Amino acid sequence: MANVVVVGAQWGDEGKGKIVDWLSERADVICRFQGGHNAGHTLVIDGEVFKLHALPSGVVRGGKLSVIGNGVVLDPWHLVTEIETVQKQGVEITPQTLMIAENTPLILPLHGELDRAREEAASKGTKIGTTGRGIGPAYEDKVGRRAIRVADLADEATLIARVDRALQHHDPLRRGLGIDAVDRDGLIAQLKEIASKILPYAAPVWKVLNEKRRAGNRILFEGAQGALLDIDFGTYPFVTSSNVIAGQAATGTGVGPGSIDFVLGIVKAYTTRVGEGPFPTELDDENGQRLGEQGHEFGTTTGRKRRCGWFDACLVRQTCVTSGVTGIALTKLDVLDGFETLKICTGYELDGERLDYLPIAADQQARCTPIYEEMPGWSESTEGARSWADLPANAIKYVRRVEELIECPVALLSTSPEREDTILVTDPFSD
Ligand code: GDP
Repeated sequence: MANVVVVGAQWGDEGKGKIVDWLSERADVICRFQGGHNAGHTLVIDGEVFKLHALPSGVVRGGKLSVIGNGVVLDPWHLVTEIETVQKQGVEITPQTLMIAENTPLILPLHGELDRAREEAASKGTKIGTTGRGIGPAYEDKVGRRAIRVADLADEATLIARVDRALQHHDPLRRGLGIDAVDRDGLIAQLKEIASKILPYAAPVWKVLNEKRRAGNRILFEGAQGALLDIDFGTYPFVTSSNVIAGQAATGTGVGPGSIDFVLGIVKAYTTRVGEGPFPTELDDENGQRLGEQGHEFGTTTGRKRRCGWFDACLVRQTCVTSGVTGIALTKLDVLDGFETLKICTGYELDGERLDYLPIAADQQARCTPIYEEMPGWSESTEGARSWADLPANAIKYVRRVEELIECPVALLSTSPEREDTILVTDPFSD
């Protein structure tokens, strides 16, 4: 199969980086289709550590085309710094190896300022827990039809008109939050200065991807965050500001939905969440503590401690449906080593009734209590296992039960941070 979409099937941090890296070696084109530079992937290639936030994972591999699609919001200053950093590490980045969709909206410094001012003003319980990088406000401007897009950088008159339109909205908003008005001329000067560094990479991405697809190239669509943070299907309002589910790979790059052959959902063998919002299987006890410690559950970008809990099969079954997942990559199975008993959530109890999905209404979500099934754990180590034969019987039973409950097969199984410590069941790229 030629085109693969990778999506996180929980609240993000499922270990997409490792799997995307594994798949990007097999792909010809690697595309980002949503989110901003809040996604943090750390790639280790031949001992060299690359920290990527906005750039697709493929840039660090020679001979691949990396694409930033229109579904992304782009901070051009951050991108230029990131490009320079990886170039210093010996990676070649040229307009032949990196393309940015001309219709990609930009994140401006005023977006970050707004993001941070709002989070500071919010009271406990209403904070979204954003990374403060302006991603949400940039998406608001896109939908509000006042964004500055990559193509606007090419023409001074258009650029100035766009800035003025944006400031008509932002200056009154800033006044209300007690922030000074934007320095209009300074912003225009900054944009004109960065334009020459960004425009060489601008391209009609939808067209290029169509040509690549017709030429038989393998395209990998690299998702960031997770489906439970999707603006429509996530735990609203504690969600990200873009669509994260697999359909976004089409709208966020301009390929038709029929061009997607395989959707790989990345699923961690337990559950974590960063920041506020509902989390039915969250553990406030020593088991939660232990999952966090054994799983090193601290954010790559923010360093924030993640909330931890048992595997929620009910939620993953739901995200496998909304993303049309073909198969999952189950990660971090090794983190469950040594637990005497493991619990899996199979549904919820709400007002005396059993539900097989998480309702959308916030008050109902708050009243849902997980219904658990218990499974025996294993004392042996699964770390680094590369075949089913390396796994203890109870670990295999756990994986099989996960497949049954989420109604989706395992395509890949990951047993350590190392790329080769992976059990391959189905190659998403195989024809
Ligand atoms: P992403 O945002 O989805 O890529 O996830 P993160 O990078 O935030 O979290 C993944 C972390 O888990 C990274 O430090 C990986 O090296 C690590 N990791 C990935 N797969 C495995 C695995 O199977 N076992 C263990 N122990 N760690 C893993």
